[in-house]
Amino acid sequence: MKVTFFGVGYVGLVQAAILADVGHHVVCVDVDQEKVDNLKKGIIPIYEPDLTPIVIENYQNGRLNFTTDAKSGVNHGEIQFIAVGTPPDEDGSADLQYVLAVAEMIATHMQGPKIIIDKSTVPVGTADKVSARVAEVLTSRGVSYAFNVVSNPEFLKEGSAVADCRRPDRIVVGTDSDTVADVLRELYAPFNRNHDRLIVMDIRSAELTKYAANCMLATKISFMNEIANLAERLGADIEAVRLGIGSDSRIGYQFIYPGCGYGGSCFPKDVQALIRTADAIGYQPEVLKSVEAVNYRQKEKLFAMISDHFSGELVGKTFALWGLSFKPNTDDMREAPSRVLMESLWAAGAKVQAYDPEAMQECQRIYGSRSDLALMETAEAALCDVDALVIVTEWQHFRAMDFDLIGDSMSEPVIFDGRNLYEPSRMRKHGITYYSIGRSMPL
Ligand code: NAD
Repeated sequence: MKVTFFGVGYVGLVQAAILADVGHHVVCVDVDQEKVDNLKKGIIPIYEPDLTPIVIENYQNGRLNFTTDAKSGVNHGEIQFIAVGTPPDEDGSADLQYVLAVAEMIATHMQGPKIIIDKSTVPVGTADKVSARVAEVLTSRGVSYAFNVVSNPEFLKEGSAVADCRRPDRIVVGTDSDTVADVLRELYAPFNRNHDRLIVMDIRSAELTKYAANCMLATKISFMNEIANLAERLGADIEAVRLGIGSDSRIGYQFIYPGCGYGGSCFPKDVQALIRTADAIGYQPEVLKSVEAVNYRQKEKLFAMISDHFSGELVGKTFALWGLSFKPNTDDMREAPSRVLMESLWAAGAKVQAYDPEAMQECQRIYGSRSDLALMETAEAALCDVDALVIVTEWQHFRAMDFDLIGDSMSEPVIFDGRNLYEPSRMRKHGITYYSIGRSMPL
């Protein structure tokens, strides 16, 4: 099938590449000329495991192409995906300007019927707005073409996006047309062989499903962080509690890890956006507001622990920071807890020596060169002459720690672990003062 994607970000690029890889002909349109030029040279703008060879191979075999020319993109695809960003507006609601700009572009150039798919995460009612915008432009052009607007939210996870798109848990399709549902069934057939993963529903329910999923996951995290904060005040160990509750099959072990708060481009903005949606219709979303409030507090936790330990005297201190991305296996630092921590440390007069396996370039892009930030080549190098180590992201290779190196690099070894990577008893054995989340401290 012929498919067009508007937006080659984390979602658009991965989905486009995966669809091309199973034989569809995909054109990606983006307004970012540099991104498009780089993609044509095989330079992938994001770090996502296994993505690069798929993009390069399908570009070379001609099934995947990149352009900034909206007109040729619109002409190419019977299916037009909108996969542009929906960042928070000033009040936290989803900013639809990029989505509606694409709707306008499609309507400006279309010469025949189109299926327009909202892949971006958009508030309930957006498909109506996209329809209205397309109809408006077609009327102003004095033409009339059939079009359908479908909600097909994306559930991929950064860090495992390729695998998630190849083997999706579900494919949610919101449409009021059986014919359109059949077209999407055909499009996704290669990913729907083992059992039927397509869940067809009305458009508004599909739009809400995406927010409900992200808000449920964010709720699990904030809930566990709340219990962790209680555990450390009550002399309990959250890791034991986690195992205890996870064993209940109604709760399960997944996504109940305590930590230093959730970040990324999705959970914070989607929780906020659903709160704004509720506010706009006069409903008080008490749970969602608490989820957000707990997360704000949790992101400040590492700094509070550090400040307490050093009695507020942080001027001139240097901290090793392991992990900049908001989670492992991505270079994405949007809303990352590392940013809250670094900015607090800098404001308090401290310096940071940071290491991340993938996000150093992104960190450099965000913060530029500054005298209180050094980006180090390795995790070990980051430990050189520091007052403490702070762990913010649970990259796999931070899990096996060289305890001697810690002892050698700090006169009084201290670790602040925002991800509970280590056993407190082992830390004690090695003479390390160890702060973690939800365990009575310091151990
Ligand atoms: P992104 O910021 O990585 O990419 C968006 C891309 O759209 C950019 O390359 C930008 O240049 C391009 N763009 C902006 N305006 C355009 C226009 N008028 N025409 C063509 N291209 C344009 O965003 P993302 O992370 O891929 O997210 C896209 C959407 O998918 C958001 O709504 C997000 O909430 C949702 N989503 C994201 C994830 C994720 O893990 N990142 C997962 C599921 C859903």
